[in-house]
Parts: sequence; C-alpha cells; structure tokens
Amino acid sequence: MRIEYDYDTCIGMFQCVEEWDAFERDEDAGKAVLADSEEGSEDVFVREVPDDAELDAKFAARTCPVDAITVYDDDGDQLVP
Ligand code: SF4
Repeated sequence: MRIEYDYDTCIGMFQCVEEWDAFERDEDAGKAVLADSEEGSEDVFVREVPDDAELDAKFAARTCPVDAITVYDDDGDQLVP
C-alpha cells in the first residue's frame, strides 16, 4: 500500500495526526508532515505504508477534510478517499 500527501492542499487541521503517527504537526507552517516520505512531484509526498499501519493510513486519508491524503493499493488502484 502506498500513500500520497499533498502538502499544498493541506490546511493544517491535524486530524490525520490523530489517526496515524507517521503524520506529524508542523505548527509553524500550519501543515502536516509525512515522516519518511519522498517528494514524488511538486509538493506531493509519497511513501509505502507498512502492513501493520494500513488501517491507520486509511483512517488518516478518510478523515482529512480537504482530501489531501490518498491511499493506493499495490496495483495502483485508489482506495481512499
Ligand atoms: S487532516 Fe488533511 S488538512 Fe488536516 S493536517 Fe492532515 S493532511 Fe492537512
């Protein structure tokens, strides 16, 4: 499973931080930070989701009010939102 986080879209509501601890707060920027991610394209950060964090990652994607987080399965199909 793979997760994408769109830094530009994020409005810093921090619900994702409550769901998966890979999401951290950057209070100064008013943005979430996705730990251990790489910048795939401009301002879009990607990383693999460990098997034991799949549920948390899905909840993080589901809870984001502006759909800044997207989760894909290993075939590249979008799962959430
Ligand atoms: S829930 Fe969405 S808007 Fe809020 S901090 Fe996380 S990514 Fe940003």
